[in-house]
Order: sequence, then C-alpha cells, then structure tokens
Amino acid sequence: MGDCIFCKIIKGDIPSKKIYEDEFVYAFYDINPEAPTHFLVIPKEHIESVNMLNEKNINVISHIFKTIKKLAKELGISEKGYRIVNNCGEDGGQTVNHMHFHVLGGRNLKWPPG
Ligand code: AMP
Ligand code: ZN
Repeated sequence: MGDCIFCKIIKGDIPSKKIYEDEFVYAFYDINPEAPTHFLVIPKEHIESVNMLNEKNINVISHIFKTIKKLAKELGISEKGYRIVNNCGEDGGQTVNHMHFHVLGGRNLKWPPG
C-alpha cells in the first residue's frame, strides 16, 4: 500500500529500530513506548486489520505469535510476563491501518485498559 507508514518501514523508506525480520514478519520498537519494553510485530503483507484476515492470510498469525514468544525471551521479559495488544478499528483505537501486535513489558501493567 503506497501511503502506509508500516509498509514504508518494512521497505526501509522510513527508518525504524528493527529487532527482527524474516520472510513473513517485521518487528521494531514503538516510537512512543508505553512501557520499558514496547515493540510491534507486523506482517510483511499489508493486512489492514484483524477484520481482513481470511483463509489465505491467517497463517501469519501463528508466525507472529511464535515471533513474539521468541523475542520476548530474547529481550528478557518472558519470565515476569508481558502483554500482547491488538487494536482493531476506530473503537479499538487503531491509528495505523496495517495490522500490528503491540508487545509491552518491563513493568507491572494495569487492567482494564481505558
Ligand atoms: P495503534 O494505535 O494500535 O494503531 O498503534 C500504532 C502504534 O504505532 C503507536 O503505538 C505508535 O506509537 C506507533 N508508531 C507510529 N509511527 C511509528 C513509527 N514510525 N515507528 C515506530 N512506531 C510507530
Ligand atoms: Zn501497510
């Protein structure tokens, strides 16, 4: 998608603090961290939101979660725990329309969210 900032990050047209990438996913630190560790994991394919998942692209979800598990361990937040957040659509608070999973850790997180 031409005007999608996360597609531009994947292409390298916008700089990011990359943590990991492979054929299917890209992980990078959130520019506005809400916790000591806050990164995003996104599919390389432009999928707008969870609402756009289908039989053809759904496998990327398991790959994203495998990646989250691996990176959480590598970044040292596995043991104490962390939160995975996906904001979907307007009421969900989604501001970038390229599906992404937030991973937040390194502090005790409050519940419920606002
Ligand atoms: P959401 O509100 O769930 O759509 O989350 C979008 C997230 O993307 C926010 O936490 C932003 O801080 C983050 N974000 C926006 N632009 C960038 C960027 N250029 N690099 C890293 N993170 C970004
Ligand atoms: Zn995109």
